[in-house]
Amino acid sequence: MECVFCDERTIKAEEFYSDRYYRAIYNLRPFLPGHSLVLPKRHIEDLTEMNDAERRDLVSFLNRAIFIALKYAGTEDYDLILQQGENAGRSISHLHFHILPRRADDSVNKGKSEWLSEFNRNEVFGRDLTAEEMKAAVEKAKGIADKYRSEIKILERSG
Ligand SMILES: [Zn+2]
Repeated sequence: MECVFCDERTIKAEEFYSDRYYRAIYNLRPFLPGHSLVLPKRHIEDLTEMNDAERRDLVSFLNRAIFIALKYAGTEDYDLILQQGENAGRSISHLHFHILPRRADDSVNKGKSEWLSEFNRNEVFGRDLTAEEMKAAVEKAKGIADKYRSEIKILERSG
């Protein structure tokens, strides 16, 4: 089965941070600025399929990717979302976490109870970034990862 998250060519254009087991990519259809995904490099579909090394590194990697996404969006608040299975709104079967930086003035904060259905609607009907927009987003996130290299290094031990 074809998996877009296993396609090295497309994923490299979206990736802004990675280590041995995980990569952080900018979402092709960002719901809000800084909307990023964390996924294992290995194709697994479920949390239960993780091996010991992936399990050990997960929280530490999430902390590092979240750090970058929050700097990107200029906030300290975020939603972390895992959609498991089609009935939960997942469209790509490769396990992935959504990091959604949130701000008081963001476009969905007014309708607090409806924002999750808006999020799901955007996953299906939202506009894909153009190649140029994706490049700009990835370069900005990579710049943040580089600028805060030492802070991010400290977070490696945070898992
Ligand atoms: Zn995959």
